Parts: sequence; C-alpha cells; structure tokens
Amino acid sequence: MPFHAFIRNRLDELRSEDRYRVLPDTGKRNGKYITVEGQPLLNLSSNDYLGLGDDSVLRAAFTAAFLEHGYLMTSSSSRLLTGNHYLYEQLERELAHLYDREAALVFNSGYHANTGILPALTCRHDLILSDKLNHASIIDGSRISEAAYRRYRHNDPEHLEELLEDAVGKYRQVFIVTESVFSMDGDLADLPKLAALKKKYGAVLIVDEAHGAGVFGERGLGLSESAGTVGEIDIIVGTFGKAFASTGAYAVMNELIRDYLVNTMRPFIFTTALPPAVLAWSLLTLHRQAAMQVDRSRLLHLASIFRSALVDKGFDVPGESHIVPVITGTNQRALGIAATLREAGVLGMAVRPPTVPENRARIRFSLRASLEWADIEHIPDLISGVLS
Ligand code: PMP
Repeated sequence: MPFHAFIRNRLDELRSEDRYRVLPDTGKRNGKYITVEGQPLLNLSSNDYLGLGDDSVLRAAFTAAFLEHGYLMTSSSSRLLTGNHYLYEQLERELAHLYDREAALVFNSGYHANTGILPALTCRHDLILSDKLNHASIIDGSRISEAAYRRYRHNDPEHLEELLEDAVGKYRQVFIVTESVFSMDGDLADLPKLAALKKKYGAVLIVDEAHGAGVFGERGLGLSESAGTVGEIDIIVGTFGKAFASTGAYAVMNELIRDYLVNTMRPFIFTTALPPAVLAWSLLTLHRQAAMQVDRSRLLHLASIFRSALVDKGFDVPGESHIVPVITGTNQRALGIAATLREAGVLGMAVRPPTVPENRARIRFSLRASLEWADIEHIPDLISGVLS
C-alpha cells in the first residue's frame, strides 16, 4: 500500500475506535478558567496543581528580575558547550539541599529525564522492573535501554518481589522504577514497601515524582517526603511543568551518578539547554514551595470530598490524590461526558488508550489548590445525568 494511503487508513482506524485526537484550540488562562474555542471553561484538566502559573506576585517578581538581569530566552547551546548558565548551578544546589542529597541535575523535561536516565545507567546485563502503569516516558526509556525489561502488576509489591526473587543471581543490577502519584489513576505507590524491597534485593530504586512534587510532603518534595523515604530512593525525578508551574525536570541523586549522567545521558548531552529566563522562573516557583503547606492540604482535602461525592453516585473512581479519574470504560462514554461537561462550562478531558489501558477510558479531573468546593460540587450530579 502506498505510504500516504497507509497513513490515511491508520487515521481512519483511530476514528472508528474513538481514538482520533485533535489539538484543542486553547486560549487564555485566567485563574480557574481557560478559554477553549472562545468559551471560558472551569479548568479541571490542568497540572498546575498549586495555581502558580498565573500567580500575580510571582509574575511581578519574575518581571522585575527579568528586567534587572536581562535573562535571555535562549541558551543557544547545550550545557556541555556554552548553555550552562549559573542559574542551573543555583537550581541544582538548592534542589540537592532541599532533598538533602549530594547532587541534583536539571533536564529540559520529564520526558528527557525518563528517556535518558535508564538507558544511561543500564547495560544488557541488567533488568528493569517497572510498574505496569508507569508513564510513557518511563516505558520509552526502558525500551531504549539495553537492559531486560519486565513489568510488575500495578502497585503490587508482592508481584514485584516475585520478579525480584526470580532475578536473583541472573543480572549485574536490577532497577525498580515507579511513579509516586500515578498520573492517570491518581493512586499512590507504596514507597516504604518498595524501599524495603530495594534494600532486601540490592536493587536501585528510581521514583518519578512528576505528580507528587509540590502536592505531597511538608515542603512539597513529593510523596517520598510524606512517606519518609527520600533518603532511601536512589534517584528521585521531579518535573517543573506541573505543580512547579514552569518547564523542565530534575533528578536528585549522589555525586557519582550525576557525574556519570553528565557524561553519558544522551537527552542531557545532545539538546539545547533551557533558557535562563525559564531557570529564573523555576527558582521562583521552587522558593514559593515552603509557604504552600496550607494550599497543599486544601487541595488534598478538596480532592477527597470530590472523590467521595463521585463514589457516592456509584462511579468507579480510583486513587487517593488530587488526580481524580472517573472511569467510563468505553472511549465513547468518556467523550460523551467530556462534551456534556463542556456544555456546562467545565473542562474535564477524556483520556483514552493508549494513554490508559484498553477499556479503561476516563475523565481525568486534576484539581487545583485555588478551586473551591462550590466550583465543583455540581459535577457528580452532572455526570450522573449523562450516564443514567
Ligand atoms: N513523568 C510523568 C509521570 C508524567 O506524567 C509526565 C508528563 N505528563 C512526564 C514524566 C513528562 O514530563 P514533562 O511533561 O516534563 O516532559
């Protein structure tokens, strides 16, 4: 079949499975609202969990610093050439200090981090054990890696232990990789259990805090902080694109691993560094974390009453965090609910395979600290109306 005909067929297949996607026409963000196709909607689909993206005090501080220092909007080079601005050093020093670890390294994105760290650290004599629901970037990093790769059942340390037991004596090194707060199910990894298994079997534990950082922990370091496991995890990855309301990612680790990543990690070496302006903003939002304890508690409380209200209506709502998924099963139902929400002025996006497993389509609500119960209390009834 000619190439373009093949592509057209493939797209038609996606349409027939309700899996075809179009880029939404999203416009201005204004506090709780976002404009989509000209209509302002209550935004329940943002990862700006603390609402820092348009915080006026932070923005004013940034504008003043931007004018004072003349931060550039480009770094024009990779970090190993001329892109290693001093703000990188500052950000990494502060991150290492916050997590009480020897070192930190900042990356262009969480996708860069996860597709780079595993391939850099592993070889063909290794094994990666990955939670079945880990993010695509972890899956891709595992695929690029030369190591053997096995998935353990989602959030099932017993299954993980079976795989660890099975691996004894067969590999140079075993790596365990998990998200802390799962991005699509909003449930939490059992980090103390994983840390104990890592210790028992001499594995390396890598935890992706993309959705935990800023939301969990006294200082917003993530679930590893609230679970008291920061010091037991070999590499903690966090992203700046979510609760930290910026762009980029980081990992904290020991000095030796940092040195090795700087020398071997391809998505670190072969990409243009982040612009100084972005680093300056990330520093500001990071500094703000210490003062956000009340916002974190409010957010988790709001999520818990929202989840209970949905469960009371009979919905399947997994998880226990600010990510509140309403499982609809079919793609069609997810799209139907999203359309109804939208008519009612609410943006709750449908998430479909391959982002989630087959027959596990859902509306993924992600709440923000700036929301009030009054903003969302009508939603369980609204969804019930569609499904009844
Ligand atoms: N890890 C997880 C768990 C994520 O959900 C995401 C983004 N959705 C990433 C990594 C990638 O981060 P970034 O958006 O910074 O590339």
